[in-house]
Amino acid sequence: MLVGLVQAGNCGIGMKYPIKVQTMCNTFTQDIDKSVAQCVEMAAAGADLIRLTTQGLKEVEALKEIKAILRGKGIDIPLVADVHFSSEVAIEVAKVADKVRINPGNFAKDHDEACRQLKKFLDVCKEYGTAVRIGVNHGSLGERIINKYGDTPLGMKEAAMEWIRMCEENEFYNLVISLKASNTIVMATAYRLLWEEMQKNSMIYPLHLGVTEAGNGDTGRIKSAVGIGALLKEGIGNTIRVSLTEDPVNEIPVGKIIAEYFDSGEYKKNLERIGTPAKGTVPHCDYECCSWDEFIIKASCDFGPMLLDKEIDDFTLTAKINGEVVPDNKLEDFKDNLQQAARRKFTKPEYIACPGCGRTLYNLEETFNEVKRRTSHLKGVKIAIMGCIVNGPGEMADADFGYVGEGKGKVAIYKGKEPVLRSVPQEEAIDKLLDIIEKNPLE
Ligand code: SF4
Repeated sequence: MLVGLVQAGNCGIGMKYPIKVQTMCNTFTQDIDKSVAQCVEMAAAGADLIRLTTQGLKEVEALKEIKAILRGKGIDIPLVADVHFSSEVAIEVAKVADKVRINPGNFAKDHDEACRQLKKFLDVCKEYGTAVRIGVNHGSLGERIINKYGDTPLGMKEAAMEWIRMCEENEFYNLVISLKASNTIVMATAYRLLWEEMQKNSMIYPLHLGVTEAGNGDTGRIKSAVGIGALLKEGIGNTIRVSLTEDPVNEIPVGKIIAEYFDSGEYKKNLERIGTPAKGTVPHCDYECCSWDEFIIKASCDFGPMLLDKEIDDFTLTAKINGEVVPDNKLEDFKDNLQQAARRKFTKPEYIACPGCGRTLYNLEETFNEVKRRTSHLKGVKIAIMGCIVNGPGEMADADFGYVGEGKGKVAIYKGKEPVLRSVPQEEAIDKLLDIIEKNPLE
């Protein structure tokens, strides 16, 4: 079954199309004014698709209204509904959204029931011409897959293949797949396994690439560029999302730099300039860019995959931004961040922070920055800051400690996968997290 192209509203995703850049609102979907305003900003920044949290039927109604207002303003950007757990919501929103993101594994605990719900959902998608993304994230695999394959890239690939086959049995092909993880090695391995398996089976479903919980600032940008770049370099991937714990509008220029770097062939030319490094050699590149972001993203796409795949251990570089030489200390800090993003050398804490969405009930970005400020000395400790208790605990994967929003004004503090404190008032939560970290030093 060859497919290769998917249509979500007016947006074609797949083989012949340029890489599509998408993002996700972090507004409450029911807050129509704020959601519309954010979509307008995202569209102006050049987003190709916009996703909104759709946790219940009220959000389905809100999405309908948001879509109508945007269309009234002449903005025809496709809207993607993000649905977890409820097949009822997925079925309803499939009549409204241009694309729906689901993980059918969490429709029901019982696998047969999940398959029955998926079939009902796909029937509606066929009727309304709605595209679907099956998103199987690391940390959200079902019990059956985990028992068989573990929470591994192989398990992620197997889960995706199982749902692809189920869609094909139901003659549904308007399908995009994603296998995201916050660990760039897990993420790249899972997509490569799936790509290989799809090739063997003559399937070419478009792939949506992303590194989840990448954090913010330079480290978030670098981590995303490493994971996404490692795959685009191999011709894997058709649409990307750079998840940042920041204003989501900031995700778009970062995604655009990555997409255009690969689409334009500039990446290939630069790689030729760098040359294929022989074992044990240290490749070098001189960069001349228009902005700091452009420099760190391009250099991460160039050297990150080489580090990730252990083709090199180190690299050297110089950079000029608008003609100004970047000082050595800034280049060294970038190199440290890149080594850590590629999981080769850990010189700083490892932060796992979701971008936040309509399920986040606290100021995630502010909290994350404060946690970073107070834990910057904890080299190698993995600290997660997650927006909600619904997906947060699963998706913070292998974090040593976690701060997870539990509801209005309340936070749960995790040690590994266990919540050690529940319902902590938000004003006390960072102190409590630090207290738990201090009392539980890692060996
Ligand atoms: S973990 Fe973060 S991004 Fe994911 S659903 Fe919860 S709040 Fe939204």
